[in-house]
Amino acid sequence: MPINVTPIPALSDEINDIRRRTASLINDEVLPHEEVLWRSRRNTSQSEDEREAGRRASIELREQIKAKVFEAGLWAPHLPKEYGGAGLDFLSLAYMYEILAYAVGASSLFGIAAPNSGNASILVKYGTEEQKRKWLLPLIAGEMESGFSMTEPDNAGSDPRSIRTEAVRDGDHWVINGHKWFTSNGINANFFIVMCRANDPTGEFGSTGRMTQIIVPSDTAGVNIVRNIGIFGHPHSDHCEIKYENVRVPLENTLGLVGQGHQAAQDRLGAGRVYHCMNSIGQMWRAFDLMVERTLVREVHGGLLKDKQFIQGFIAESYMDLQSARLMTINAAEKVANGDPDARTAISAIKVFVPAAYHRVVDRAIQVWGGAGVSNDLPLGQMYLTARVLRLADGPDEVHKILMAKNILHRYENGSGWNFGA
Ligand SMILES: Cc1cc2nc3c(=O)[nH]c(=O)nc-3n(C[C@H](O)[C@H](O)[C@H](O)COP(=O)(O)OP(=O)(O)OC[C@H]3O[C@@H](n4cnc5c(N)ncnc54)[C@H](O)[C@@H]3O)c2cc1C
Repeated sequence: MPINVTPIPALSDEINDIRRRTASLINDEVLPHEEVLWRSRRNTSQSEDEREAGRRASIELREQIKAKVFEAGLWAPHLPKEYGGAGLDFLSLAYMYEILAYAVGASSLFGIAAPNSGNASILVKYGTEEQKRKWLLPLIAGEMESGFSMTEPDNAGSDPRSIRTEAVRDGDHWVINGHKWFTSNGINANFFIVMCRANDPTGEFGSTGRMTQIIVPSDTAGVNIVRNIGIFGHPHSDHCEIKYENVRVPLENTLGLVGQGHQAAQDRLGAGRVYHCMNSIGQMWRAFDLMVERTLVREVHGGLLKDKQFIQGFIAESYMDLQSARLMTINAAEKVANGDPDARTAISAIKVFVPAAYHRVVDRAIQVWGGAGVSNDLPLGQMYLTARVLRLADGPDEVHKILMAKNILHRYENGSGWNFGA
C-alpha cells in the first residue's frame, strides 16, 4: 500500500514540499520494487545463478533509484550543498526520515545509511580541507565506505571515558594500539574513525590521555579484523572486532583537535538520535499498516481478526504507542531546532521511549501475522531485531534515564521546577 501523505497545516510549505517529494519517490520508485531490491535476503532456495542474477538486478535498480533521488535534490539530505548534499534544515530532515523509513532499507538509497552518514557529518564539521577531499567527497559519492570504532570489549561502552585505545605520537605520526568491537560496516570500510586517547611525549598537544578521533585507512598495516561478530544468530552481519596493533598514521589524520574526540562523538550522536527516532517511527507506520491490513482479511475461528477484541486491543495500543512516540520526537526535534536548553532531556527521553514503543508495535504486528510474522517474507522480523538493538546502541536506556533524572532534579534542587509543557 502506498504511503498516504497529506500536507500538515502547522508546517511550512517547504517542509510539506519535502514530505510530498519524498513520499512520491518512496511510492513510485521504492515500494513497487522492494521485492527485487531486497530479494537476496528473502529467498534462500534459489540456485547460485538465480541468486547472482537477482543480486545484479538489485544493484542495477538501486543505482537507478539513487539517480532519481539525486535528480529530485534529496540525496544526502543532511549534508551541505557544497559537498553534494541537499542541505536540508533540521526539522525538514526529521519529517523526511519518517517518510523514507517506511520502505525497507531506503536509507542507503537516500545516502543516509549509518555509519557513513554520521561519519560524513563529523568530517564536514571537523575535517580539514585535505581530509574532506580525501575522505568526505568519496564517501558522499558512494565511492568509499567507513566505520566508527569506539566501543571496546574490555571497557564499558556506556561510559566512553573508560576507553583505553591509545595513540602515541612518534615524530610526525600517531602509533595506535587498542582493541575495539562492534565497529559496524567494518568489513566494507575503506577507513575508520577511531576513538583514541592521545599521548604526546613532546607535550605539544597538552596533557596525556585526551580523547581524540583519528582517521585510519583500513589497509594500514596493523589494522587486524579479528572477526565479524554475528548478532541474533545472523553470522553475516557486519559488526567487527578489530585489533589496532602498532598502526602508524600521519598526524594530519587527526580529526578535529586533540582532546575534541568526546565532543565530536556527542555531536555525532546527539541530534542524530532525533533522526534515528524518526526512522523508527517510519518503520512503526509500516508495521502498523501491515498489522491492520492483515486483520481485515485473515479468518480465524469463524471470523476475521479485525472483529476479535484481543486484536482490536493490539490496534488501539499500537496507535497510542505510535502517536505518543511521534509527538515526543517532533517535540524533541523542535527543541533542537530552537536551541532550547531542555533539548538534551527531550532527546534522552525519545532515545528510551521510541525504541521500546517500536518494539511493542512490531511485536504485536508479528503476533497478528502468526508464523509469517517471523518469516523472511515480511520485514517484521528484521524490524524486531533493529528495535532491540536500538535500546543498546547510542547509549543504553539506563544511561539516558540517569541523564534525564539529573537534568530534572537539578531544576527542582535550584528551586525553579520543570516548566509546564516544556
Ligand atoms: C548492532 C550493534 C551495532 C553497533 N555499532 C557500533 C559502532 O558502529 N561503533 C561503535 O563504536 N559501537 C557500536 N556498538 C556498540 C554500542 O554502542 C555499545 O554496545 C553500547 O554503547 C553499550 O556498551 P557496552 O556494550 O560496552 O555495554 P556496557 O557499557 O558494558 O553496559 C552494559 C549494560 O549495563 C547497564 N548500564 C550501563 N550503565 C549503567 C548505569 N549507570 N546504571 C545501571 N545500569 C547501567 C546497561 O543496561 C547496559 O546495557 C554497536 C552495538 C550493537 C549491538
